[in-house]
Amino acid sequence: MQQKISFKLLPSEASDESIIKKIIAQTSGKKQSAVTGFHLLKKSIDARAKTIWVNLTVNAFIDEPFKVREPQLFNFRDVRKAEKKVIIIGAGPTGLFAALQLIEKGIKPIILERGKDVRTRRRDLAMLNKEGIINPESNYCFGEGGAGTYSDGKLYTRSNKRGDIDRILNLFVRFGAEEKILYEAHPHIGTNKLPHIITAMRNQINDCGGDFLFEKKVIDLIIEKEKIQSVKTADGNTFEADNFILATGHSARDIFELLHAKNILIEAKPFALGVRIEHPQILINNCQYKSNAANDALPPASYSLVQQVNGRGVFSFCMCPGGIIAPASTAAGEIVVNGWSPSKRNNPFANSGMVVQVELEDAVKNLGKFKSLEGLENSPLLLMEFQKMVEQKCFDAGGGKFVAPAQRMVDFSNGKNSSSLPTCSYQPGLQSVHLKEVLPDFVYQSLAKGFIEFGKKMPGYFTNDAVVVATESRTSSPVRIPRNNDTLTHPQIKNLYPCGEGAGYAGGIVSAAMDGERIAVQIAALIS
Ligand SMILES: Cc1cc2nc3c(=O)[nH]c(=O)nc-3n(C[C@H](O)[C@H](O)[C@H](O)COP(=O)(O)OP(=O)(O)OC[C@H]3O[C@@H](n4cnc5c(N)ncnc54)[C@H](O)[C@@H]3O)c2cc1C
Repeated sequence: MQQKISFKLLPSEASDESIIKKIIAQTSGKKQSAVTGFHLLKKSIDARAKTIWVNLTVNAFIDEPFKVREPQLFNFRDVRKAEKKVIIIGAGPTGLFAALQLIEKGIKPIILERGKDVRTRRRDLAMLNKEGIINPESNYCFGEGGAGTYSDGKLYTRSNKRGDIDRILNLFVRFGAEEKILYEAHPHIGTNKLPHIITAMRNQINDCGGDFLFEKKVIDLIIEKEKIQSVKTADGNTFEADNFILATGHSARDIFELLHAKNILIEAKPFALGVRIEHPQILINNCQYKSNAANDALPPASYSLVQQVNGRGVFSFCMCPGGIIAPASTAAGEIVVNGWSPSKRNNPFANSGMVVQVELEDAVKNLGKFKSLEGLENSPLLLMEFQKMVEQKCFDAGGGKFVAPAQRMVDFSNGKNSSSLPTCSYQPGLQSVHLKEVLPDFVYQSLAKGFIEFGKKMPGYFTNDAVVVATESRTSSPVRIPRNNDTLTHPQIKNLYPCGEGAGYAGGIVSAAMDGERIAVQIAALIS
């Protein structure tokens, strides 16, 4: 028989197969020899009390032969001769998973990606990190795999569509991710492993007969009779299809501008903006694991913090234990930071975004203070321009070459200059700056108070050993591209499917991938 059993173990016991089998035998009332094996179904750490527990759920094989876990099978079809074609603009998680789903439905995807393949893209990242020179077409956001490739690869989502999430995780395993992402409560791949997985996805798409084209930046949409006839790319080519998936991510400002210029409906969308904060990892371990800080069986600790300050939410975002702060800018003259970590999470720092919700009225209220935004009150690009303005102020404050303005944490909240800064993982470097003068006031005030409150919730967290780096501004899209709830098409353009994070329908790798699949299924149902 097979039996689902849940129990908890100490961290030092949780990877010991014989202990797990013993617990299964005790729980099921059978002899240990009757337990032939088990599959882990769920694994999570509970560090809330003094004793830290690992919660496990297993599917136990008792009195029957153990069977290894069967990989989920996918039916990738040969689409070389397929009559139906769909153009996908953007090869981030949204575009890639849409392409894979279309192939399963027998439809040929043509992916147009502005950036380069993962390997070539790495050189552009090195130039940015080491020389402070950005390639606006190839960076942490643009290129094969989109912002998902050199991301942290945390695969959790607030979405609760379990079946869809499992499918996405199984696809990641199919293309090379470790099986443990299927049962860990907080699955994580790591920046070192993601490029291989993305390459394997591209190989699959190409092998099936899909077209995967790099350095094809879409710069125009040719529209007739409420339908896109073709798209033009920056290198002078034109591509035609019956349906178009727009999956260009939250950083493709030129796409938002293009849609607006062509009177294609878009809307300003509230987003979150703030800073990234970095602590020594050991300090976070001590905060979270208390007496067990030195326990090797525990992973580098993470945290998730949220606080209401004067009616406004301040919250941690994309926390990276054992991670690195990355320059995630997409253009010259602007600073954007984000975070990643390798699969082992073995860097000595823990970083996290710390952000504040930005509503439309915040940007409107701040208009007078920032000349460049005047006249944009009713524009759907208002929040995008607000985001850009903060990023540019940060660049100027850092002094150029993507050096980021920064301040120690307690100094930040106390409004005091930091005479020195601690060592930080951010490679382009830091400049000590009074961030009150750089960030919008409501953002600064909310963060300054929020940090003090976080220190009360997590003693040890509020410390001058931590450094605050500005700005974390690309948390989600500042623009929504509307789509019809039933057809999933743009209300004005019948064959345009706005999709993923850039259009405002996803936040993170898994939800972006799920949205890509959803659109592909919809198109297949329509045209098959
Ligand atoms: C450093 C970093 C760490 C992150 N860590 C995590 C994490 O741990 N977990 C998580 O869930 N999320 C993380 N994210 C966010 C995650 O990567 C995004 O949510 C996700 O990639 C969004 O997917 P998308 O396909 O909608 O858009 P994107 O990934 O942004 O992809 C859009 C693609 O479109 C292309 N494109 C843009 N304009 C054009 C054009 N005009 N023509 C052709 N192509 C175009 C871009 O080059 C890009 O490849 C991280 C992001 C960064 C930058």
